[in-house]
Amino acid sequence: MTFGIDDLPIRDELRGKSPYGAPQLDVPVRLNTNENPYPLPEPLVERIAERVREAARELNRYPDRDAVELRTELARYLTRTAGHEVALDNVWAANGSNEVIQQLLQTFAGPGRTAIGFEPSYSMHGLISRGTGTGWISGPRGEDFTIDVAAAGAVIAEHRPDVVFITSPNNPTGTAVEADTVLALYEAAQSARAGTAGAIVVVDEAYVEFSHRPSLLPLIEGRPNLVVSRTMSKAFGAAGLRLGYLAAHPAVVDAVQLVRLPYHLSAVTQATALAALEHTDTLLGYVEQLKTERDRLVGELRAIGYEVTESDANFVQFGRFDGEGAAHEVWQQILDRGVLVRDNGVPGWLRVTAGTPAENDAFLEAVRALMKERSEKEQSA
Ligand code: PMP
Repeated sequence: MTFGIDDLPIRDELRGKSPYGAPQLDVPVRLNTNENPYPLPEPLVERIAERVREAARELNRYPDRDAVELRTELARYLTRTAGHEVALDNVWAANGSNEVIQQLLQTFAGPGRTAIGFEPSYSMHGLISRGTGTGWISGPRGEDFTIDVAAAGAVIAEHRPDVVFITSPNNPTGTAVEADTVLALYEAAQSARAGTAGAIVVVDEAYVEFSHRPSLLPLIEGRPNLVVSRTMSKAFGAAGLRLGYLAAHPAVVDAVQLVRLPYHLSAVTQATALAALEHTDTLLGYVEQLKTERDRLVGELRAIGYEVTESDANFVQFGRFDGEGAAHEVWQQILDRGVLVRDNGVPGWLRVTAGTPAENDAFLEAVRALMKERSEKEQSA
């Protein structure tokens, strides 16, 4: 027997667990991780090189610990696009929104405290909770994957969580959450913790630029315990950059600085993100194309005969595949045709990311062929 993880003195709650990870397989069409399929435009690549060259001349020094220029530009972007004026002191940035979430949990949760999400949802909310020693509560979603306020409120009242995650649009279902629902859950979370400083409600808007609806960001006004988290991984087509950010009351921004590592955002990261923000309009143009492609996927999948969950994101959940392991079997059959989609473990459903028109055609061709085979089999049976 070789020496392994379990021979190390790791924390009990990590024993027997697997790390997060979608398969990174070498196939022609990869539509499994909700990435933006469009490479950055060449003028932006040039601008990144220029900005990074400048930053490189000062790499002997630590970067701006408070990322002031970058946070100012992120605030400008939010003010311009999210229907609410935010300033430098409302915005905080980190290495991907995963790190933003980790910092929020380190600040507002941790050992002896709990966080809740409404599942199926983004699995990292639960995994980062575990990593920070936070107890995880799996809250309910309805049959149609929306959040029922009464059911969710009852679980909040019972468990009195310290942190509440609301993902809108939700991953992996694509479901947007109404502002009224967020407001009701915010109130429920505060009254469940009446007599304390309340609960932090995190609205994870990683995919909001793809939504049919406006951002929930204006809800932070007058609600100091409400945080909106964002990322440049999706709409900005910069998953490799690792840049996430949040908008909230300035007190939240002060609070997360108690746990952030000093100089956590490298000078190279800050320079690259600033270059990308200079090209916001071009990048948002790709978002419009992806929304059109997302809507096409929804329409064509329905025409083929699949059930499709309404999507406000850059991906589409489709099914249903009845029976134990049926979804995974279909996942494999699609993969055998050279297209990688995602089995998120939601029984009966798979998720496909909107790619380029050609990638989406390849996917649609694969599932059409599958459907045809299936109906031929049924006829001959
Ligand atoms: N939130 C949601 C809902 C996501 O789906 C993802 C990535 N898949 C993230 C946050 C994290 O994104 P990143 O760390 O790349 O910003």
